[in-house]
Amino acid sequence: MSVPRRVIVLGGVAAGMSAASQIRRRHPKTEVTVFERGRHISYGACGMPYNIEDPERSIEDLVVLSAEQARSKRGIDLRLRHRADEIDLDQGIVSVTDLDNELELRESFDALVIATGARAVRLPLPGFDLPGVEVLRDLGDGAAIKKLCEKEPRNAVIVGAGYIGMEMAHVLSARGLRVTVLEKLPQLLPGWHEETVAMVADVLSSHGVEYHTDVTIKAAEAGSDGRVASVVTDRGNFDADFILVAAGVRPNAELASRSGLRLGDTGAIWVNQHQQTSHPSVWAAGDCAEAYHRILRRNTWIPLGTTANKQGRIAGANVVGAGQRFRGIVGTAGFVVFDLEVARTGIGEKQAKEEGFDPVTATIRQRSRAHGYPGGVPVQVHLVADRETGLLLGAELAGTEGAALRVNTLATALAAHMTVADLQNLDLVYAPPFASVWDPVLVAANQLIKKVGS
Ligand SMILES: Cc1cc2nc3c(=O)[nH]c(=O)nc-3n(C[C@H](O)[C@H](O)[C@H](O)COP(=O)(O)OP(=O)(O)OC[C@H]3O[C@@H](n4cnc5c(N)ncnc54)[C@H](O)[C@@H]3O)c2cc1C
Repeated sequence: MSVPRRVIVLGGVAAGMSAASQIRRRHPKTEVTVFERGRHISYGACGMPYNIEDPERSIEDLVVLSAEQARSKRGIDLRLRHRADEIDLDQGIVSVTDLDNELELRESFDALVIATGARAVRLPLPGFDLPGVEVLRDLGDGAAIKKLCEKEPRNAVIVGAGYIGMEMAHVLSARGLRVTVLEKLPQLLPGWHEETVAMVADVLSSHGVEYHTDVTIKAAEAGSDGRVASVVTDRGNFDADFILVAAGVRPNAELASRSGLRLGDTGAIWVNQHQQTSHPSVWAAGDCAEAYHRILRRNTWIPLGTTANKQGRIAGANVVGAGQRFRGIVGTAGFVVFDLEVARTGIGEKQAKEEGFDPVTATIRQRSRAHGYPGGVPVQVHLVADRETGLLLGAELAGTEGAALRVNTLATALAAHMTVADLQNLDLVYAPPFASVWDPVLVAANQLIKKVGS
């Protein structure tokens, strides 16, 4: 394969900038142009909730690399406020709009990396375009929410009880708002195990956050000042001078699809394990693309920053011929709600059944520190395995100390296709300040081994 002379990257956040930087680092003679339709590149979106919590910090603190630094330090031709509109795969041309100068450009490429990310779902309901209704996806959204908080709103309604909804329930409470979470499905944290959800529900209640599940939202209504004032639902009206819609994300895959690239069943861009799309000169990475799942052994779509960075780096390396393989994800994610750490990896019991496994589960609570050592709190561990083979399938953890990072042991076990017996015999650290002689993960494995065939 000949190394391309000119590469275009679409999207300049985690995946796009990882790819662009990797190309320049490995092959400085290759020209790289990044088109980013927004005003920022390379920022830590994951840090936005915690930044919003602190009125003293600027949202710009989350920017890791400015456009100027990308140009001067990495030699990347970085064009902000440039939106890619069409891709002509036969000609190798991208049509771009320079949004500030209202100019149409046609730029040619030898290789293309698509890293257009995902967008937040907006509700197509009356009143959901009123001032005071926000989503949290990019730095502009984060800035808008910080500004809104300065106006000292009193009542926030969060639509959606996924991990961003939970993080923001905590953040907005900390900013002094009375928070209500409305979820259309029958439980908070859809897809998580009920015992993890129960711990999250307890922590919300104990911090004064009201929540309702099985709610159908009908509209948002304005007050006399023209700003949002309430949410209308089948359970009545809720006061809201701020609504955060945290109802999920969708892949920005339409541009790729229009150009003739294959999408997967998930609606995201299909890629092979080299991050190559259905066209040999086009790679895709991050939230716009699918990712190979090591447990399911097929592509799936779980849009997370960890994956975007790795896939972007591999896409960039492969554009210049490195031949690297993205080994895949196991679906590891975590968050904090008030003082409760919550994390998961792999698949849950319900999904395991849908995938044709015969799942067995165990849920235990064990102290985070040794008996007799001061402090220490219960850590809840929930494990899922296949009854016949004993193969570990998934895990969830929750606790106010020592919970989230323990998920990494389980993520590693999943990646290595360990059985419950393998897990039970792991040589995990024991020292009284941070574990019992039987770590909570091992206690859970000891319980689960009783239910599996090997
Ligand atoms: C509040 C919040 C908290 C999060 N917390 C975590 C966390 O704790 N852990 C974790 O792993 N992940 C987390 N994530 C997810 C993580 O931020 C994303 O997975 C990551 O940003 C994806 O990076 P990306 O480069 O693929 O896409 P994006 O960040 O979506 O970037 C894509 C870029 O492409 C640009 N673009 C789109 N279309 C075009 C076009 N046609 N032309 C030019 N440019 C275009 C967009 O403007 C955008 O800037 C969080 C996300 C949010 C919003």
